[in-house]
Amino acid sequence: MNIIFFGPPAAGKGTQAKIIQDKYGLQQISTGDMLREEAASGSTLGKKAQEIMDMGLLVSDEVIIEMIAKRIDSPDCAKGVIFDGFPRTLAQAQALDKMLAARGKAIDIIMELDVDQDKLVQRREKRQQEEGRSDDNADAFKKRLQQYNDYAAVVLPYYKNKGAVPKIDGNKNVEQVTDQIEVILRGKDSAPRAFCCGV
Ligand code: AMP
Repeated sequence: MNIIFFGPPAAGKGTQAKIIQDKYGLQQISTGDMLREEAASGSTLGKKAQEIMDMGLLVSDEVIIEMIAKRIDSPDCAKGVIFDGFPRTLAQAQALDKMLAARGKAIDIIMELDVDQDKLVQRREKRQQEEGRSDDNADAFKKRLQQYNDYAAVVLPYYKNKGAVPKIDGNKNVEQVTDQIEVILRGKDSAPRAFCCGV
């Protein structure tokens, strides 16, 4: 099963992806984590990416799509993937469809984690204190939220055109959010695929 967790920064996508990964044997792929690892390695690409991340902007589609293409054939992705923070543009969504179709796979479900703005700001503050991420400062975060609103307006309709995109109430606590996700996953197990790749 291939899943997309779609939602604004600090919505809890990573937290939930890790829980579902451990429970269902799927592999979380977080493009944000991959970029942070690349930056920590000190590579030229990583340094460039970090500058863009710190401004709250999106890293180029070319870099992101290449990263995903290299990652999805790893043995740990064989049972399925939870995409966290990807796709963020139409080009990424279309490239993902093509990559999966070439492997006889598709996105089975995309869920939208919906969280109130004031809650996101609270979570951002907490995460900045706990993790010290350089792009969690107030200015970069504001930009990231703006970016989210822009790309959600393009990427969500792309998927809604193909099938239902269930909304999860991400304002609830971690367990309650996981429960909502699991209800959808259980329903999906017995239902036909909503997102056939159509490419
Ligand atoms: P995240 O950890 O998902 O909040 O991502 C942190 C930052 O990494 C974002 O603000 C972007 O600068 C960059 N990033 C992560 N995923 C993507 C993506 N799919 N496309 C473009 N940029 C991304």
